[in-house]
Amino acid sequence: MSSTNSTKKSIPADHEWVVAAELPVSSDIARYADFRGSFLAKAQQRVTALEVYCKGCRRPYEDVADEKCAAVVDNRHLIGGDQRVRAKRLPAPVAPAGARLVPGHTYSRRGVEAYVQRMV
Ligand SMILES: [Zn+2]
Repeated sequence: MSSTNSTKKSIPADHEWVVAAELPVSSDIARYADFRGSFLAKAQQRVTALEVYCKGCRRPYEDVADEKCAAVVDNRHLIGGDQRVRAKRLPAPVAPAGARLVPGHTYSRRGVEAYVQRMV
């Protein structure tokens, strides 16, 4: 649910707040939810909110409620560590001296041909 409440001026409207919740369910619903990945909750069921965070920047509500969403600006919030001191990329592996590259054949892993050739 997008927070577009304009009555509270202290909360920027660009965060997309979500709640990690805990709902007690029966064993039948547990089995169904495990299989389907979703289920229908009962109407007016009390939900325990484990954590409230922004779906975009993945930061807790209490930390960034009064700030602009970092996901709207750029993706620096996803990169860990000091942004000025970044590790260099590892060099690509190099074949040892005297090694000979042997090309392999290509084959399709999709479609009827792959099924007929027992690739799947
Ligand atoms: Zn956010």
